Amino acid sequence: MAFELNRLARINNLAAGVDSDVIQQAQSLSTKLRVLVNVEKKYWISQDKDFYQLFLKRQNEFLNQLLSLDSIISEERSRTLLTEAQGYSQSYFRGVTDRKSTGNKKNSIIYESARDETIKALYSSLDKIEQATNRARDEKIRESGTISSKVLWLTFAFAAVCVGLSIIVSLLTMKRIARPIELFQRKTRDIAAGNFTRIERLRAPMEISMLADEFNAMSERLQELDRLKEDYVSHLSHTLRTPLTAIWEASGMLSKGTFDADPGSQAELMAIVRNECKRLIVAVNRILDLSRMESQMMDYQFVTTDLNQLISDAIARVSPIARAKNIKLHFTPQKDLPPVKVDTEQLHQLLENLIGNALKYTDSEGSVGLEANINKGKDAKVEVAVADTGRGIEAQNLRSIFDKFRRIDSGKDTTRGSGLGLAIAQHIVKAHGGSIWVESEKGFGSTFYFSLPPA
Ligand code: ADP
Repeated sequence: MAFELNRLARINNLAAGVDSDVIQQAQSLSTKLRVLVNVEKKYWISQDKDFYQLFLKRQNEFLNQLLSLDSIISEERSRTLLTEAQGYSQSYFRGVTDRKSTGNKKNSIIYESARDETIKALYSSLDKIEQATNRARDEKIRESGTISSKVLWLTFAFAAVCVGLSIIVSLLTMKRIARPIELFQRKTRDIAAGNFTRIERLRAPMEISMLADEFNAMSERLQELDRLKEDYVSHLSHTLRTPLTAIWEASGMLSKGTFDADPGSQAELMAIVRNECKRLIVAVNRILDLSRMESQMMDYQFVTTDLNQLISDAIARVSPIARAKNIKLHFTPQKDLPPVKVDTEQLHQLLENLIGNALKYTDSEGSVGLEANINKGKDAKVEVAVADTGRGIEAQNLRSIFDKFRRIDSGKDTTRGSGLGLAIAQHIVKAHGGSIWVESEKGFGSTFYFSLPPA
């Protein structure tokens, strides 16, 4: 098509430019020839040199125009005619020069008839050039018409092919997109129904494949949350049911008067009721605390405090448990410890959670030790370590134990707990601008660390 358009432009150019020029120049040459012959005749009659000068000037103009016509003519036929015209004009001018040099009287009739013949032939050549060029121009215009309609047809055909192709491409694209979307719809319905499926081997554009990866990650996460929720419901019901059953049984015996005659046993039952109530209060408070922390509703009151004192207080509070389990609980206050700016109540809770866990997961005769040090790195922080000689934690669980409701089941001797202690500890440490981590080896005890910026 580009080739046809090129040809069309060339033909139009030739017809409108070159051919029109040739016709115009051929006509102008005929006019000039008429003037030339008139001037020549006037010269022979008057013998006036001025006429001869004028003749020479017009002759020059005529020859120049012939040359310029020579430079623009391209048609083969016109070119032959032009060569003919050049030959006639040369013999005409030669005749004039010869006559002038030999004297003008002799053979004037012969000269004039020969000249008239040459001029006639010259006119005829010029006329033929004009006609041939006219014909060539008409031919070009006809050809250009044919090419134009061909180009028009080609354009329509090309446009039709493009429209067809784009319809096919959009249908294919729609199919490639619509199918995965239907699959997404089905899988989403599955997830809504509690069936956490995955999208496997999807043949789709890259963006949709990436979406499928995200979808699978979401499905896995939802499945994990669902499992956590189930775990949590069972842990929570266990956490709440055990104290409630103990309270129910003890209060039943008291109200029936089973131990009316035995004040010692009665006091023991009352102590059980109180302890179990306390346990319930602690469990409920933990749940409330965590939800307050997660929704950023916890109100922290920061005051500059001596960390040694804070740790000693926490140890004093849990030491009865250590004594009861016969676990050695020790802490040596560190002299150069800088003060910290903390919410003392929250920090007590943090320390109690960590020390409580250490005591809970360590068998009797073991030991739990605390240490506080200033870490003199480039970003100096106070670091507290709570180390125990307990059961330790498997490497694969070291990170997940900080997730809420995450409890690591260790068989039938699983210790009671809500699975919230470490999640709360992590919230408290973060709210103070610090971090918390653990180092442990299964069977060889654990050390929980947390850091705090100095005041
Ligand atoms: P829990 O109420 O179950 O103790 P936590 O969030 O305090 O909840 O702890 C989460 C889990 O981390 C526990 O179930 C336990 O498996 C593990 N864990 C925490 N502290 C210790 C420790 N000192 N030694 C061994 N395991 C621990």
